[in-house]
Amino acid sequence: MSVNVSGRDRQVIINPLVTCMPMGAMWAVLGINRGIPLVQGSQGCSTFVRYHLARHFREPIEIAVSSFHESTAVFGGKKNLNISLKTIVQRQNPDLIGVVTTCSSEIIGDDVYGFVESNKEELKDLGHDNTEIIPINTPSFAGSHFVGYNKAVDALIKNLTVINENNEGDDNKINIIPGLLNPGDVNEIKHILDVMHVPYTILTDISETFNSPLNPKKQEHPYFGKGGTTVDEIRNISANKGTISITKYAKTGAETLEQTHKVPAVTDNLPPIGIKGTDDFIMTVNKLTKHDILDTLMTERGLTLDLMADVSARYLAGRKVVIFGDPTLVTGLTSFIIEIGMEPVMVTTGSEEKTFPTDIENMSKGQNIDVITEGDLKVVEDYVKDKDNGVELILGSSEARFINYDTGIPLVRFGFPVYDRVGYHSQPIVGYRGAKRVVEMITNEVLAKYYEEKHWKLQQ
Ligand code: SF4
Repeated sequence: MSVNVSGRDRQVIINPLVTCMPMGAMWAVLGINRGIPLVQGSQGCSTFVRYHLARHFREPIEIAVSSFHESTAVFGGKKNLNISLKTIVQRQNPDLIGVVTTCSSEIIGDDVYGFVESNKEELKDLGHDNTEIIPINTPSFAGSHFVGYNKAVDALIKNLTVINENNEGDDNKINIIPGLLNPGDVNEIKHILDVMHVPYTILTDISETFNSPLNPKKQEHPYFGKGGTTVDEIRNISANKGTISITKYAKTGAETLEQTHKVPAVTDNLPPIGIKGTDDFIMTVNKLTKHDILDTLMTERGLTLDLMADVSARYLAGRKVVIFGDPTLVTGLTSFIIEIGMEPVMVTTGSEEKTFPTDIENMSKGQNIDVITEGDLKVVEDYVKDKDNGVELILGSSEARFINYDTGIPLVRFGFPVYDRVGYHSQPIVGYRGAKRVVEMITNEVLAKYYEEKHWKLQQ
């Protein structure tokens, strides 16, 4: 068994695998009911994120921006923020504004916390004191989109959660920090908890805000999409039984809640992708709440195992796979790929995560796996195009479509962004039902590529 860890062998990044830190923060704020992200920066910092989110989720994405120009770089962004906050509050009257900083506002040294406090006073004098305004520091040069998400959830918890001295509320309720999961995944987590009759608060819930119906009814003004976690729900999470961070890469909020309000945190599990990851998640919920694991979930588990038994040895075993994307996705998928008998020959994320190589090593069962930290798409391309590596399948985002066109090696779309296929975001890859979908997606690509129609293995 050997896991070979290496870094990118050049300074320059060619087609990064990560994106901008503010994007993760905006993702989290857009999971708040009547919440609006306000970008303290230039227009491009909001347009780029809106474009990125809109083409993945195929939904309109509402993001405000304080619109920095050259003069702001000299005089600072206080005036911009003041005008922006007043405009949003007077026109939209949201329940929450997340003030998301950017490279420029961080470099010029905007005191966003001071600006927000003075603006709150001014808005109060104008009779607007019902909007929570939360500063979120996201200097993009210091991290990636999932770091931004983590910081935003932590900022929301720090600023909104109230001390619940009497421990009022539903003490069987748990908090879930989903990380950068898709709406279909968040719905699957909710499904599992509903089946177990466990009440929950999702921090934050994008299941409807990023996947909303086209409704012919007359729209309200100001318009806010349905769904999302309410500010009141977040205020009350300190009374809940525990917090599960679906991914260790978004665990800071759970740790904060444990330190400040003594709410137990579970932060180190694998994401619930595949059988083992889902088993661990369900057992964690069971331990926290003592709610039973009901037959419905066991049936879903059994159906997935049945499919795995049908296809694993016959079509998938031993096939060599490259996986790239966020560390949450890559660790989850790698673990599951091993479960179904495939060989993850190379895995990479776009950032340097200290525990990532160890996580991969711990799940490896004798395979040689090349773990490349701080990879980029060029790393993936070079590895896939090297015939000695024998890669037969790529798991990752739409960004690798040209590697697929060049080599003919199938790309099964996972992660973010997926913009050249439809339906990915609205269906799960987590939970037992998500695991079944993952096996179906992978197997169908393998069948289409590696078996001709009359192959004997297809006839039985
Ligand atoms: S300037 Fe910084 S914050 Fe703005 S889009 Fe670029 S990386 Fe993101």
